[in-house]
Amino acid sequence: MEIEKLAQKIDGRIVLPTDTEYDTLRSIYNAMVDKRPKLFVKCKNKYDVVQAIHFAKNNSLEIAIKGGGHNGAGLALVENGLVIDLNEMKSIQVNVDSLRAVIEPGNTLADVDKATHEHGLALPIGVNGYTGISGLTLGGGLGFLTRKAGLTIDHLIEAEVVLASGEIVTANKNTNPDLFWALRGGGGNFGVVVSFTFNLIAIKNVFAGPMLWPLESANKVMNFYDHFTKNASQDLYGFFAFLTVPDAEAFPESLRNQKVCGVVWCYTGSMDEVEKVFKPIREFGPPILDAVTEMPLPALNSLFDWAYPPGLQWYWKGHYMNELTDESIKEHLKFANAMPTAKSTMHLYPVDGKAHEVALEDTAWAHRDVRWVQVIIGVSEDPKDKKVIIDWSRKYYDAMIPYSSGGGYVNFMMHEDQNRVKQSYKDNYERLRIIKKKYDPENFFHMNQNIVPSA
Ligand SMILES: Cc1cc2nc3c(=O)[nH]c(=O)nc-3n(C[C@H](O)[C@H](O)[C@H](O)COP(=O)(O)OP(=O)(O)OC[C@H]3O[C@@H](n4cnc5c(N)ncnc54)[C@H](O)[C@@H]3O)c2cc1C
Repeated sequence: MEIEKLAQKIDGRIVLPTDTEYDTLRSIYNAMVDKRPKLFVKCKNKYDVVQAIHFAKNNSLEIAIKGGGHNGAGLALVENGLVIDLNEMKSIQVNVDSLRAVIEPGNTLADVDKATHEHGLALPIGVNGYTGISGLTLGGGLGFLTRKAGLTIDHLIEAEVVLASGEIVTANKNTNPDLFWALRGGGGNFGVVVSFTFNLIAIKNVFAGPMLWPLESANKVMNFYDHFTKNASQDLYGFFAFLTVPDAEAFPESLRNQKVCGVVWCYTGSMDEVEKVFKPIREFGPPILDAVTEMPLPALNSLFDWAYPPGLQWYWKGHYMNELTDESIKEHLKFANAMPTAKSTMHLYPVDGKAHEVALEDTAWAHRDVRWVQVIIGVSEDPKDKKVIIDWSRKYYDAMIPYSSGGGYVNFMMHEDQNRVKQSYKDNYERLRIIKKKYDPENFFHMNQNIVPSA
């Protein structure tokens, strides 16, 4: 049997629909995704990945690559195909002298934070510990350090990649520079990344946390937030949110279940300056909750993990945005008041500061000139809410089109958004198509926000 032969060739193992582990593996972060692959190849190393690719080709199977399995669109799985599951490739080597980390693709952001923080170092990553480092990096990588240190891809210095041909290659600024360019934002289109090498920065503790205001004052808060952050130093980051205060002990009883607006701050400058930096924010309109305090960076990066565990229903859509006009705020407020479930939310993630210092054409990530990535997130524990969360997200998204600067962040798209991929890469799209043709002419890697090879 072909599958038995594959099993003998790899150090990892194969999981089939008849195995007890199968349902656990096909249950990814977004419980709305229900796909049944033919087999999972649980790879232990890059040579297993090569074998999995040859097997898929010889048996005409579609493939998916599973990093952290966190992608909202469920791109980590493929119906009736072969999943290259990287979850057990979890080595992280931190070199404190060169300030570098070599990270295998099965790590989550929490794994990365843990390994770097103990040395007083950090990689700019995202705001949820369950997210996989692979998909996050290949799509760009936004988070609390974006204004201070740029995107995750701005710290990538080398990747080792298994191509569609099965060849293992290195990509950095001197070797296969075109591939290296494409990997920094182009998603999983070009091959399976089996190792990432990043530059780290020295950060241990931050002054951070959420401040909340009543939804009735959202207009004032959004205006203040817009103007204040525009002129703030790169040491200050804050993402804006509409949310419902969780019904949890950590929050005052009087606020629980209230719809509010808020900003989650992260200050990385001198602790002596903290009072001065936050004074105007605290004075502008005293927040109804102020939980900003000193904490280790990994605590901030996983602050909301308890509220958003794996296994919820997720549906999201997003835009790139440049401004918060009175008119757009009116529309935002309509949808904030109509958030359909307690976990549904909307975030505006800043993309300015250090991220603006890299030229648009220097990496595949083509929208560095915007101020925010917007994400509209419909979430519920209850599968019965599927329709209401989808309806709310789509209508909110449609209402924002006039205020969008075009395209969307590929890591915040559902699979139905394929028609937006071109817009999302803007002037970089044709270059990406040429590189795709060189490294993956048959579009073998297509379970992603797909870049079609040039003709
Ligand atoms: C709760 C939550 C919070 C988030 N917060 C942030 C945030 O703060 N900042 C941010 O930028 N994004 C954020 N995201 C989005 C996140 O970056 C994407 O969902 C990303 O795709 C997750 O990566 P993954 O490895 O877990 O995904 P997977 O679902 O495993 O894979 C996603 C895609 O990447 C491809 N891929 C994965 N690994 C590899 C590899 N090694 N080689 C080649 N291709 C690969 C897959 O084929 C697939 O197309 C968040 C998502 C969620 C659900």
